[in-house]
Amino acid sequence: MRKTVSLILSSIFVIFAAAGCQQPAQRTGGKPSLAGEEMVNVYYLAGKLGMTVSLTSKDKITFNDGINTVTILTKQDQVFVNNDYLSPLGKTKVVDDLLNVRGSLEDEIKSKLGKPAIEKPASIVPKPQKPAKKPFTNLSGKTVVIDAGHGGKDPGATSTYGYEEKTVNLDVALQIAQILRDKGLKVVMTRNNDEFIELEERADIANRNWADIFVSIHSDSSAKSSNKGFTLYIRRNGSSASASLANAIDRRMAKTDINGNGVSRADYRVLTHTSCPAVLVELGYLSNYWEAKQLKNKDKQRQLAQAITDGIIDYITK
Ligand SMILES: [Zn+2]
Repeated sequence: MRKTVSLILSSIFVIFAAAGCQQPAQRTGGKPSLAGEEMVNVYYLAGKLGMTVSLTSKDKITFNDGINTVTILTKQDQVFVNNDYLSPLGKTKVVDDLLNVRGSLEDEIKSKLGKPAIEKPASIVPKPQKPAKKPFTNLSGKTVVIDAGHGGKDPGATSTYGYEEKTVNLDVALQIAQILRDKGLKVVMTRNNDEFIELEERADIANRNWADIFVSIHSDSSAKSSNKGFTLYIRRNGSSASASLANAIDRRMAKTDINGNGVSRADYRVLTHTSCPAVLVELGYLSNYWEAKQLKNKDKQRQLAQAITDGIIDYITK
């Protein structure tokens, strides 16, 4: 992505870049099919239920919506709603490191939601669950939109190792969302899985949700394999709020061992169509061997997600 091109040229460039990177149609997305049954990833399922994923480990996944708790036990092949056994989990599949479960769970879980725990006799009322920790109460009123760049038919750049940009963007975006939610912020993802979303729609999601902050996650690529480092973008005539958000994220990312190229200005459509402070983060270069390896590394992804989150919180609490 070039910072010197105009809005129109950058749009054309993006279209060409996407077309140039187009891989043969793949079905590695959020809805693979096992034995004819539609599969969905757990973040997508939680979103469809109006819930957020509050815990994920190898064997246990929990969704919450403040009233209800859904617990999925993978080893035991069981699903619980509000501590009541619901049904067997059934077939599962891991796609892009995300657990996929059968889509029919959505209706089964929905039919059991909304039952307040106080209906039960006191003797068998399950221990009330501690509300999610909200250590920063001044954060809880804020809405952050996290945009995982590309997706679906648009893979973005292809790394020197062959994996596609859209997967790294989503991996890091999901981790950012989880950390922010744990801190009590409202987070809206433009996509939770491998789906294609128009650029304007990504910005519209922020505008419809009256977002306080919009952060788009991308990974860079260049014909010159020596190019490296993360870069932050705000729009050309971006507000001082956008600039201070970008600077706050820049300061935190500079403490990771990915090099920094600082804050630049470019009229990417996700930046020009959003009405709140908006930043596009290029995590590093997929065309650089060292960074392409780093960006696929789970620990490095977590480190970057934490740095971006810390920057967002620095900006809100400044
Ligand atoms: Zn990109």
